[in-house]
Amino acid sequence: MAKPPRISLAEVARQTGTMLRRGDSGHFVEGQAPTMADLTESLFFSPGDGRIWLNDQRMLLMHSSAMGHLRRELIDTLGTERARGLLTRAGYVAGARDAQLVRERWAQADAANVFMAGTRLHALEGVVKVTPLAFDFDIDRGTYEGEFLWEHSSEDDEHIAAYGIGTEAACWSQVGYATGYVTSLFGQLVIFREIECRSMGAGVCRVIGRHAAAWGDIGEDLRYLEAKDFRRLSTTASPPPDTETALANVPHTATPSSQATGDDRHEIVGASSAFNSACHQLARVAGTRATVLFTGESGVGKEAFARRLHRISARTQQPFIAVNCAAIPETLIESELFGVERGAFTGATQSRPGRFERADGGTLFLDEIGTLSLVSQGKLLRALQEGEVERVGGTRTLRVDVRVVAATNVDLQAEVNAGRFREDLYYRLNVYPIHLPPLRERRDDIPLLMNHFLRREAERHGRHPTGYTPRAVRAMLHYAFPGNIRELQNLIERGVISAEDGVAIDVAHMFRREQLSDEALLAIGAHGTLTSPKNGAEPQRLLDLLSGAMRGNDGCVSLDALERRLLQEAADAENGNLAAAARKLGLTRAQFAYRLEKAREPQAGA
Ligand code: ZN
Repeated sequence: MAKPPRISLAEVARQTGTMLRRGDSGHFVEGQAPTMADLTESLFFSPGDGRIWLNDQRMLLMHSSAMGHLRRELIDTLGTERARGLLTRAGYVAGARDAQLVRERWAQADAANVFMAGTRLHALEGVVKVTPLAFDFDIDRGTYEGEFLWEHSSEDDEHIAAYGIGTEAACWSQVGYATGYVTSLFGQLVIFREIECRSMGAGVCRVIGRHAAAWGDIGEDLRYLEAKDFRRLSTTASPPPDTETALANVPHTATPSSQATGDDRHEIVGASSAFNSACHQLARVAGTRATVLFTGESGVGKEAFARRLHRISARTQQPFIAVNCAAIPETLIESELFGVERGAFTGATQSRPGRFERADGGTLFLDEIGTLSLVSQGKLLRALQEGEVERVGGTRTLRVDVRVVAATNVDLQAEVNAGRFREDLYYRLNVYPIHLPPLRERRDDIPLLMNHFLRREAERHGRHPTGYTPRAVRAMLHYAFPGNIRELQNLIERGVISAEDGVAIDVAHMFRREQLSDEALLAIGAHGTLTSPKNGAEPQRLLDLLSGAMRGNDGCVSLDALERRLLQEAADAENGNLAAAARKLGLTRAQFAYRLEKAREPQAGA
C-alpha cells in the first residue's frame, strides 16, 4: 500500500504562499501541533479547588456507568427519540467547545491537524478511539467528506449493557460531538452519520461526515440537532446548528455580556452561576425606578455593572454620571453633587451644575458611598426623598429625575451600627442590593475574562501575542486575585506589553515573583522561571535541591543523592537529550551517561 506523501499542509502553504484552505488526510502529519502530547498537556487537575481543566474549559471526570445510568433513565422516561435528541445536542455542544479550544489555542496549526485534533480530544476525553480512514475538505468550495472508525465507544458499552444488541446505531452523543466539532471549524453544517455500530452487532462503529448539501435529505439528522425544547431550556443559548450560527458556538458568547458596544471598557463578562445570578438580579431591577446598591470587594466591577444597569434600563438614552465619593475632597463633595452658584464661596467665580443636575433623566452612580460625611449623607437623603436639589449658595430648588445607583466595598450595616452612616439613608439606598462575588468565587469566568482582556489589551496596545502558555493559564487559574477583575486585567495588560509579538504570554510576563507563593509555582510547574539567572535563580534552585529530598534521616546532605538528583534534573530539563544535559553540567556526553548510569544503580543500604 502506498504511503501518503509526508508533506505538511503548512509546508504546502509556505511553498505556494497561500493560506491553507483545503487539504486531506494524506497531508496530515503525525508530529505536528496539536499532537496528542500537546492536547494532553492542556488537561490538568486542580483537586485543591475541585476542578479539572482542559485548557480553559472546565471538565468532569465521570463514571462511564453513571453516564450510562443517566442515559438509560433518559431513554426510559422520555423515549428513545427525545433522549437521542438530548444526547446528540449535548454532544454537539462538547464538540463545538473543543473546536473552539483548538481554534484559539492552536490558531497557527494547519487545517488538517486541526480537524484531526477533534478525534484526539474525543479519545483523550475517554469517549472513543477514532481512526480516520480518509477525509478531504475544501473550505472555498464548501466541501467536506470524512470516514472514520470508532473503537471502544463508551456509549456503545453502556447501551449494550442496558439494552443488548439491537437494530439501531447508538453512538448518539458521539455523532453530535463530531458534527459540532467539524461544523464549528468549517463554519458550515457537516452532518455525521453512524452507518455501522457495535450496538447493531458490528465489530467497530463506522461513521461518515459530509457537508449537509452533499447528503441530500438531512431532515432526520436535523430533528435530533434542533429540538425546540432544547433552545428554550438552554439559558446560555446553545446553538441551533445551522450554517449561520455554526461558527458562533455559543456557550462563550451568549452570556449577558455579548451586547456589542462601541466602548467595551465596561463590558461585563462571565458565565459562572455566581455571575449569572448577579445578571439576573440586574435584569430584574433594570426596568424599575428602584435605587440599587452594589456591594462587593474592590475591583469586582461594580461600575461596569452599574453602567450595564443603565444601558438596559429605559434611561439608556439619557446621561450616566459616575462619581467616586472617595476621590473628591470632603469640602468639595457638596458642590460636586449639587452644583454651586457664583459667589457661594471664594473661588466660585461662576455657577455650575452638579452631578445630580447633569444626570437629570438618567442614572447617577455613587461609588464608595460609605466614605460620605454625615453632612453630605443628609443632603443626599433629601435629594433622594424629595427629588430636589439646591446648589451651594443658591436659593432655588431644582427638580431632578435621577435614578441613584450606589456601590460600596464596606459593610454599610456595620457603618450604621458604628454611627458613621445614617440609618435612614442606608434603608433608602438598600432597596435592592446586588452582591457582586469576588473573582475567586467565580473561577469559571477566569478563562472568559482572560480571553476578553487579551483581545482588548492586544488591540489597545497594538501587540500580537498568540495567546497564553499552558503554564500561564494554570497560573491564572490557581491565582487568588485579591484585586479581583481589576487585578486580572492589569496582569493581562502587563503580559500583553511584556511578551514579544508572535509569542504566547507566559507566567513571567504577567506575574512578579512575589505575587506567587512557592506552592503556586510548584503547582503550575513554573519554579525558577520568574527570576532571571543573574538574579540568582540557579543558586536558589541549588538551595531547593539541598533542602529537599537529599537530606538523610540525620539531616545531612548526601552527595551521592545530590549528584543523582542533579544529573536527573539536567536530563529532565533537556527532555532526555543527554548531550545537552551534559553541556549544562560541563561534562562530556560520555561522562554524563556514565555518571547517570552509576547513579541509577541501586544504592547499597540506601
Ligand atoms: Zn456505535
